[in-house]
Amino acid sequence: MPGAEGSGIEEGRVENRWSDDEATRTVVRYRESEVPEDLALRVYTTRLLGSDPRLVLHGGGNTSVKSRATDITGEELEVLYVKGSGWDMATIEPAGLPAVQLRPLLRLVELDRLSDEDMVNLQRRNLLDSTAPNPSVETLLHAWVPHRFIDHTHANAILALTDQPDGDAVCREVFGERAAIVPYIMPGFDLAKACNDIVAASPGVEGMILLKHGVFTFGETARQAYDRMIEFVSIAEDTIRDRATRALVPADLPPAPPAVSDIAPIVRGLLANPGVSDDTQRFILDVRDTAAVLEYVGARELDRFSQVGTVTPDHAIRTKPKPVLLPPPSSDALDAWRVAAGAAVAAYRTEYMDYFERHDARLGGTRKMLDTSPRVVLVPGVGILAAGATAKAAGAAGDLAEATVEVISAAEAMSRFESIDEADSFDIEYWSLEQAKLAGAREPPLARHVVAVTGGAGTIGRATAAAFHSCGAEVALLDLPGERLGEAATEIGALGIECDVTNDVSVRSAFAGIARAFGGLDILVSNAGAAWQGEMAGVDDRVLRESFELNFFAHQRVAAEAVRIFRLQGTGGCLLFNVSKQAVDPGRGFGPYGLPKAAAMALVRQYALEHGREGIRSNGINADRIRSGILTGEMVRDRAEARRVSEAEYLSGNLLGREVEPVHVADAFVALALARRTTGALLTVDGGNLAAALR
Ligand code: ZN
Repeated sequence: MPGAEGSGIEEGRVENRWSDDEATRTVVRYRESEVPEDLALRVYTTRLLGSDPRLVLHGGGNTSVKSRATDITGEELEVLYVKGSGWDMATIEPAGLPAVQLRPLLRLVELDRLSDEDMVNLQRRNLLDSTAPNPSVETLLHAWVPHRFIDHTHANAILALTDQPDGDAVCREVFGERAAIVPYIMPGFDLAKACNDIVAASPGVEGMILLKHGVFTFGETARQAYDRMIEFVSIAEDTIRDRATRALVPADLPPAPPAVSDIAPIVRGLLANPGVSDDTQRFILDVRDTAAVLEYVGARELDRFSQVGTVTPDHAIRTKPKPVLLPPPSSDALDAWRVAAGAAVAAYRTEYMDYFERHDARLGGTRKMLDTSPRVVLVPGVGILAAGATAKAAGAAGDLAEATVEVISAAEAMSRFESIDEADSFDIEYWSLEQAKLAGAREPPLARHVVAVTGGAGTIGRATAAAFHSCGAEVALLDLPGERLGEAATEIGALGIECDVTNDVSVRSAFAGIARAFGGLDILVSNAGAAWQGEMAGVDDRVLRESFELNFFAHQRVAAEAVRIFRLQGTGGCLLFNVSKQAVDPGRGFGPYGLPKAAAMALVRQYALEHGREGIRSNGINADRIRSGILTGEMVRDRAEARRVSEAEYLSGNLLGREVEPVHVADAFVALALARRTTGALLTVDGGNLAAALR
């Protein structure tokens, strides 16, 4: 079969991963905390569903079981355990399936209409535990369909069948009497009501196919509902295999596409919301460039099928209804591409504002417009760049974008991709329940910023990386290969990148790695350094040059590479250098260390002078007497002895009389990063030493 090879759905298949042993173990494990057997099994199969990305991605599904529970007075109640919002199905616990009293929910079926807010309120009012999370927005559907176990997913293969012009007919044909077919209706009261009527009319069905949305399966046991889900999705996969006959026709693209690490910072700059300078709203990017993605973005008809809409409505919350499509870049004409890509993003923003105004007016003009930046960027020849406020959010958008590639490629291989219409999509993106979640969310001060720390596995580097991470930044740790780097990165939650800052090739490749991982860079902490000693009159030329290589040229090398990325982004930037007290107040025998540091201090000012107009700031720290790789325990002992004081007295020999620790340097770096009108400055972190004061 010609067409289907490249798209992921044909390559992998869902598998039935039920295991009697695992199921029993789960029941036994939860019995200790008095979790009833049916809820334990509900947790078990919910995890099975949630851990298969072909079935469930980022909140795209839910499950329930009808059971009994006893309240504090001993009264036995009929309850619905249904997935609560905020829980991930792959790792759900019993607490993620709050119990809602069933009888009051069943009475609601008599109503003709119910607002979303009233629905949420009624669901919360009937929770057994008032502190439990909000039950799923599909709770009423779970309550009214009479089966005990209900599973719901947005399986890719099912969507590929339903998201085409004759999706209804195809599903009727392949599922026959086994599944009811439900037309697209927005989740909530109306959908629950329609499903209730449909299931009442055909009580024998094993599940429902919701056109352009997903699939439900029912069962008397956890296993039966799960088995049916796997079976339904397998039927859909077989159907795709049989009917997918057409390959995506490739477009004529420029022969040598640029590296994604050169494209990503440009895109990141274009996505940053204007308002620029201090108020720029940045995004973290996530790159996807698998063979299937490249085939998709390289297709001749990309501009048609990529602009139709989402493959299932709730993607719109993370990806917006449409991606932006950029022109194909060529490595020899990046400047021209930047202009063309900028025009495409500007057009996207205008179109998004029009879309908002059109549909907000329809809903009474009460909605608050979200930002206009696209979340999914298609770059022919290069791949997909997904955007989010954090690396995690960008990764989720990337996962949804890849699922979209699978679904649309399969739908196009069979027929033509079709989605819900724009109004339905708007209703999901601007759902009052979703808007409520956005209100009041405040971001930490360096959220959406990418920070690179050289010497990141050392004492000061580690403390600095941790300080930036706790301010919400995404952090890349650069250091020489070794266990220390991996350990530090894991401990902090940063990305570890091997880098020898004295080597051009290594530095280039490390910064390309940062751009690939996060889309670009906002702050560089050039921290790597080491102390060479010797009196100048007798110093070996080789020692001096070695010290200059690390303590001066490496600062210059990484700063130049950072500025290259800052300029591709066009959103300013921040250079921070770990200079030294030695640059101002030299110590006897420390010339080989202090001289390159003095040059590095001049470098701080030179960058400040030459790049201020581009919003790039350059500042440094002069720290002193901090226990680290540069001032080892042995050195502290020797110096204390030489001065006839205790080690503690030596370390606290400053105006404040207190030891200076790595965390104090880290905090000073963060303070300089946040000092938005400070450039060309040097900050001392030495507990006070007037001999080392700059002025
Ligand atoms: Zn759904």
